[in-house]
Amino acid sequence: MVRAMVAALGILALAACAPLAPQPDASDRAAAELGVLSLGIAQPGRFEAVTVRLDLPASAAGSVLSFPENWGPEENLSQLRRDTAFRGLERLPGEGEAYRVAPGGGWIAYTVAQDYDGEPDWQTHRLPGMRVRTAQSHAFLLGQTVLPTWSQGGVPLTLDLQSLPQRAAFSFAPADCATGCALDDLANSVLALGDFAFDTRQAGDTTVRSAIRGSFAMDADAMSGVLAGMLDQGAQRFDDAPFASYLFAVNPIPAPPQGSAVVGTGLHRSFLLLASENADAERLRHTIAHEIVHEWITRRMGPTDEASDAQRMWFTEGATEYFAWKLQLAAGLIDTQDFLAGMSDLASEYLASPVRELPAGELAERIFESEEAQRLPYQRGALLAWHWDMLARERGSSLDAVIADLIDGNTGQELTDARIQAAMARRIGGHFDSDLVRYVVRGQALDPMALTLPGCVVAMPERSGTVRFAIEEGSSRDTCRAELLGPA
Ligand SMILES: [Zn+2]
Repeated sequence: MVRAMVAALGILALAACAPLAPQPDASDRAAAELGVLSLGIAQPGRFEAVTVRLDLPASAAGSVLSFPENWGPEENLSQLRRDTAFRGLERLPGEGEAYRVAPGGGWIAYTVAQDYDGEPDWQTHRLPGMRVRTAQSHAFLLGQTVLPTWSQGGVPLTLDLQSLPQRAAFSFAPADCATGCALDDLANSVLALGDFAFDTRQAGDTTVRSAIRGSFAMDADAMSGVLAGMLDQGAQRFDDAPFASYLFAVNPIPAPPQGSAVVGTGLHRSFLLLASENADAERLRHTIAHEIVHEWITRRMGPTDEASDAQRMWFTEGATEYFAWKLQLAAGLIDTQDFLAGMSDLASEYLASPVRELPAGELAERIFESEEAQRLPYQRGALLAWHWDMLARERGSSLDAVIADLIDGNTGQELTDARIQAAMARRIGGHFDSDLVRYVVRGQALDPMALTLPGCVVAMPERSGTVRFAIEEGSSRDTCRAELLGPA
């Protein structure tokens, strides 16, 4: 099947090349520097296997492509790839699967298929649905689990989706990559095929595409409404123009033994939501809001070092969680009471967490060990983000401005801890560094009662040992809302 596809693409390429003038102009020369990522299906009308092909020009010579073995909670990713064929690439010796591009350029093609039986479930998977799902009626996958990355050199790529069926959605449209997309960005994607309900709506300046399987407490319109409100507020508060297009894909997963599950993965101008169909609307809405904030924190700030990502979750997840609440309030998706209830829950979960005093370094190593470990950076980080927002506001600034600064300072270089911390300290002041060392680096217990809060909010200890944030007597909800949000 790979051979048949390769032959078909070869013919297409010939046909496209034939009319070229003998003297290529500047844009042709630029195109010759670009590679091509092609996605398709192996068999028309069936979704048991997805085909991937990378065509690499001579300008990529010497670059090295590496296939990941792990991503997030998933391991042994090479088992998802079959029928690998390549030419003009040299397979490098060593543990990982890596290829060096030869002087004339070359190509590599493979098919991707799920490597477990039946539907994703909680017995086989730490998080059902993160691993490639391919079936007769549908398929969905995350780019990070099946695409290689450049571990040395590399060229930008255009996108060829002509071999995908009509019922398909991918985070990128070919037009997005007309002048080349980074392979790293292209991997930050979701592909949904088959029996999803596909739809397109306009939300302000953004074209919102959706791909939804299953039925949930929120319908596609409601989900798009959350998306539109969040995109609008993020663009305003982070001083970052709205995106031309956005995709969200939703797939049902079985309910866990107790309760419900909603898991979001934020991707390039897109996210994948995995949810059990018994999940309530509030939880769906909040998870969608959170994933959209990741568009700015950190994707618009520059690439991060994945190997050490868990170390900076106080920022990547903590600030994201805080802004998920704050932007929902700003967009009118929730009211003042909802915001305070959300922050109260984070504080109470934090106080009840058996791992709340884990230093960031140790937490990073144990992040996938337990639900409590995974949640700690959200709880601790969001409470600190609220506190820091208030400290920055006392200086006439805000945490919104820190996010805007970090986006503004994106030159394509890696987003380092030093850059994050410098941006925070500049707006928040001297407290930031000492707070970070005390509560995150050393993991000392943070007392939610001692946070810097807006004047209209009081923190009240409860008998159960939890904390509840409430509007102070005499303050109205509207005044307090304005105080929580600060100037946009
Ligand atoms: Zn997150």
